[in-house]
Amino acid sequence: MIDKNKETVQVAFRQRLLDWFATHQRPLPWRRTYEPYQVWIAEIMGQQTQMERVVAYFQRWMERFPDIGAVAAAPEQAILKAWEGLGYYSRARNIQKAAGRILTEANGEIPTSYRQLLDLPGIGPYTAAAILSIAYNQPYPLLDANVERLFARLDDINRPLKTSKTRKKLEAMAATLLDRNDPRHFNQALMELGALICTPKKPACPQCPVQPHCRAYRADTVEFRPLPTARDKRIDIIMACGIIVHHEQFFIQQRLADDIWGGLWEFPGGRLLERETPEHCAVREVEEETGWRVSDPVPFMTVVHHYTRYRVTLHAFFCRSPVPLPKPVLTAASRYAWVPLAGLVDYPFPAGHRQLITALRKRDFSGK
Ligand code: SF4
Repeated sequence: MIDKNKETVQVAFRQRLLDWFATHQRPLPWRRTYEPYQVWIAEIMGQQTQMERVVAYFQRWMERFPDIGAVAAAPEQAILKAWEGLGYYSRARNIQKAAGRILTEANGEIPTSYRQLLDLPGIGPYTAAAILSIAYNQPYPLLDANVERLFARLDDINRPLKTSKTRKKLEAMAATLLDRNDPRHFNQALMELGALICTPKKPACPQCPVQPHCRAYRADTVEFRPLPTARDKRIDIIMACGIIVHHEQFFIQQRLADDIWGGLWEFPGGRLLERETPEHCAVREVEEETGWRVSDPVPFMTVVHHYTRYRVTLHAFFCRSPVPLPKPVLTAASRYAWVPLAGLVDYPFPAGHRQLITALRKRDFSGK
């Protein structure tokens, strides 16, 4: 931002931004009423997820759980199923825990104070500020990835974003620029501008309403801002699992509650040991997790999926179960189920296993 006549410039900046937002904002469903429950769910869903996907998930969620009471009363499995595909399932579990607390401690009303919001499971400083500013129109600044990038260009910041010095600078900018008369629209306008105009690649500077305030634009450094940060190294994880079919029923187990995907279902499996083949891993993991000595692993398919900096390669094998088949002795799951192919879609699975189920549904298992 230019420094001369700071106050006047800031007023002009806010006005340009708000005018643009009034005519260009996307018609997101929670923007109809800014109902606090809806804003909260949208904010949690929006972490690490593209807006188009958020809208579809949000609408389904609101049909199933139209209010906090419905969330609190739902079985955990229904919550996880509604979240299936969004990842980071602890977010869904925390929503349910927080809903229970809001119901019993605050009569179902989402708190209007920063301190009380921070006290709820799954609500950190960013989400608390988002709920307060967007739902309750309170003057809390917001800095998400879109706004950070926008600010780095507006101020032509010549340092990587992830340094503490830059962070402090960005926070100061957010606080100074905030429109205290209209924080709800101002914060969303910044984020929307970052998402639609000041995009990571090829920002649409000619259409940008705040171009007159942009130092990077004037200095012709837009393509170099923000400065790239050294990327976290990608981590490869190789896994294998065993698919066991018995009388046209599939064996699945539910992961332990404190697990990263706790409460979700899966085919038994795990990570490859050093120098282990995927076949051997599938057989070993099934035995470790169920007590069954399965045999004759036949490759079914390999799926690859990404989350944050992890790339997970999952090798799936059909395994022959022992005869007679004893009850499983579970060591990595809380319970198990035998489920017909058509019924698998009723259970929440992590992304890799869902891909397997989609492929399984295209095969004929009659007679297995
Ligand atoms: S002029 Fe370009 S770089 Fe500057 S804020 Fe607008 S879109 Fe971003």
